[in-house]
Amino acid sequence: MYPLGHVGMALLFVAPVALALDRRRRYPPVAALALATALLPDVDGKIPFSHHHGGPHTVLFALVGSLAVGLALAFVSANVSWAARRIESVPAFRPRAAFALGFAGALAGLASHLFADLLMIPIADNPVEPLWPFSQQTVALGVMHPGDPAWNWGLLAAGIAVQVLLFLAFVPRVHDRVLAVREGRSHDSNRPR
Ligand SMILES: [Zn+2]
Repeated sequence: MYPLGHVGMALLFVAPVALALDRRRRYPPVAALALATALLPDVDGKIPFSHHHGGPHTVLFALVGSLAVGLALAFVSANVSWAARRIESVPAFRPRAAFALGFAGALAGLASHLFADLLMIPIADNPVEPLWPFSQQTVALGVMHPGDPAWNWGLLAAGIAVQVLLFLAFVPRVHDRVLAVREGRSHDSNRPR
């Protein structure tokens, strides 16, 4: 699949996380991580001693990679929280929350990549073995041609559409919050000083 299709699939995979998170500020970093990791497995075609659709295209890699990202963010959260206290725009998360957000974001990105590649018609002699090293069973569902523009652009359009819908669903909540803050201020200004 082309990068466009992988990005679209990652946007679709990460969408349910938004429904699980009630706080708006927590979803953007998860979605950003999903996008940042969505193309990562394809490095296996560019590094020595590897082949395309090798180790990074496995369930094991998706899990271990997501764990590593989660632990790295938990470490950063525990040790660099001073930045969040000094710079307002840096979101501050507790290490446990940072781990969960990192794990969820990376898992959405890596799992979406693997899933998308499993959908394809194998065109080269490099089928995906998703359960490697436990099984050498290859999986190719043959639903789409990797270079099919309709699938690639269609997935990207679907991913963007779902994210726009999520954003629009968030906007009324933000609007309510802004109104609540304004009301609170106007009450305060009526108080005697
Ligand atoms: Zn791939």
